[in-house]
Amino acid sequence: MPKIPINIATGSLQQPEIIVGIDLGTTNSLVAIIHPESKQPTALKEHNSASLVPSVVHFDAQGQATVGEAARNFLLTEPQNTIFSAKRLMGKTYADVQAQSGFFTYKIIDDQTDSLVKVQVGSRFYSPIELSSYILKELKTRAEHILKTPVTKAVITVPAYFNDAQRQATRDAGRLAGLDVLRIINEPTAASLAYGLGLNQAGEQTIAVYDLGGGTFDISILKITDGIFEVLSTNGNTYLGGDDVDRAIVNHWLNQTESQDLPENKALLQTYRLEAERAKKHLSTHSVFETALDGQHHTLTSEQLGSIVQPLLNQTLDCCRQALADAKLNVAQIDEVIMVGGSTRMPIIKTAVGQFFGKPVHDGVNPDEVVALGAAIQADILAGNNRQVLLLDVTPLSLGLETMGGLMDVLIPRNSKIPSRASRQYTTQKDGQSGMRISVYQGERDLVEHNRKLAEFNLTGIPGMPAGFPKVEVAFLINADGILQVSAKELRSGVSQSIDVQPQYGLTDAEVERLLLESLTHAEDDIATRALIEARTEGQQLLSTTEKFVGKNAALLTPQELTDTAMAMQALQLALTMTDKNLIQEKTEALNEVSRPYAERVMDQAIGQTMKGTKI
Ligand code: AMP
Repeated sequence: MPKIPINIATGSLQQPEIIVGIDLGTTNSLVAIIHPESKQPTALKEHNSASLVPSVVHFDAQGQATVGEAARNFLLTEPQNTIFSAKRLMGKTYADVQAQSGFFTYKIIDDQTDSLVKVQVGSRFYSPIELSSYILKELKTRAEHILKTPVTKAVITVPAYFNDAQRQATRDAGRLAGLDVLRIINEPTAASLAYGLGLNQAGEQTIAVYDLGGGTFDISILKITDGIFEVLSTNGNTYLGGDDVDRAIVNHWLNQTESQDLPENKALLQTYRLEAERAKKHLSTHSVFETALDGQHHTLTSEQLGSIVQPLLNQTLDCCRQALADAKLNVAQIDEVIMVGGSTRMPIIKTAVGQFFGKPVHDGVNPDEVVALGAAIQADILAGNNRQVLLLDVTPLSLGLETMGGLMDVLIPRNSKIPSRASRQYTTQKDGQSGMRISVYQGERDLVEHNRKLAEFNLTGIPGMPAGFPKVEVAFLINADGILQVSAKELRSGVSQSIDVQPQYGLTDAEVERLLLESLTHAEDDIATRALIEARTEGQQLLSTTEKFVGKNAALLTPQELTDTAMAMQALQLALTMTDKNLIQEKTEALNEVSRPYAERVMDQAIGQTMKGTKI
């Protein structure tokens, strides 16, 4: 007989726990679950309404927020109070978004610091995290209303290129909305899951996920090995999408009417844009569109649309080529191609992408819902519903520590699979040194000053020991969400310290690209600089140990040895003031030559003494 669990506190029937999948999109968001009866991933929608909730938040004069369709209606009339595309601001500083400030119709605050941007609405300030949390709260409320049960746990998707700060920001937004975010997963991974790729499958598959939405384009190349997902590369354009097609159609019509004053008339322009979008959608299933606007008759044929879309399409294919090159693959090595985003409904896009990859594309699942449906599948896996799938991503940039001379010591190289762990031992430079500063950097350059600082903390309370004696183990741990934890432990004393790295600001895609590019163009300089710094560090260390050694053991050295040592030390000191790496190495070696014989002799004597003293 089946058992029915009852909550004894409330007397109500205990429902099995539901974990929802959420696609928190730039333009639209939605929630999906695995349907309790059909066991199929299903997008949640109220009767007769769309599953999509526009990712728009409107604030009234009292600061009361409205989200979704209702908020979208204010985009034109109250642009300063109506926040769209908050996702583009997640984990960003003002400097990150400055170049695109013309895109936003609301006020983004530049507080002249490196902290995250804020949006100003009237006298109130909102962080992108808070703005996203309004959207998530709305999704949660709608889901609870439809499911008639509390929803507290979720899987949320993010673009594959989202960095640590952006993933953390998304997680925080969830928490603020009252959701326990069990996992942050990549959108292309979710889309693959929705097509059943990677579920209960042995073997290896390489997948291209082509995601063209309203305002953004992403191409991701994934590899699934025995159900384990790995992002091989990502590329795209964060300001390219269906909206550009709509604008191009408006321009096409305007060129025909020679109407000059239209762009001044915002309401009419908006009417034109909406009609252009209607034309575009109509032409996904028909060959001609006709309309009357502002007393003018306009038409658009699918051929005309084809030439309007062509430049945008070419740009996306260039991104695909780059993504393939970064993944070191050719098109023939791609096994499956998945279409995501409303704009992939355009037949010209589907055909061209299919031709590019030389195979039919997967387009059977609603491209607006596919990411949320995949998130629901992942949620179901986390709920323990017996599907064993592991999700793996890679780190976009190398992670490391600053070591002597400002050098970058990489612990986790770029493109490492996550979750990932690495550790290395370090030691002190000075006798009795009680603290050690651990500075964490992200980037590909040899000098930390050219990379991006993520965090810094001090390991304090190291008991007094001679230089080089403490063993400080620094460990980096990146969890499944791509969030880094750094810990340091002095192994002899057990003193330890750790932090979660929550970077102050995020990197733009352009910045990630710049950092990678710079590491290539500066590779030669970097190698030379690193070699010089290493030579200097070695020279300085030898000078200080020799000085200490001679100070302690002068009585055991001959006068000739003392003079030779003094001269070799002087020569090395002089070389260290110059930038000639070879000269420094030469003088270091010379000092070594002078000191090695007596150092060995003194050591032997010391060992001999200890042996003599040992009683058997
Ligand atoms: P998304 O950001 O994924 O919600 O995609 C929204 C974009 O898809 C908008 O630019 C829409 O105009 C576009 N879109 C939606 N349906 C269609 C369609 N049937 N044909 C062409 N574009 C569409």
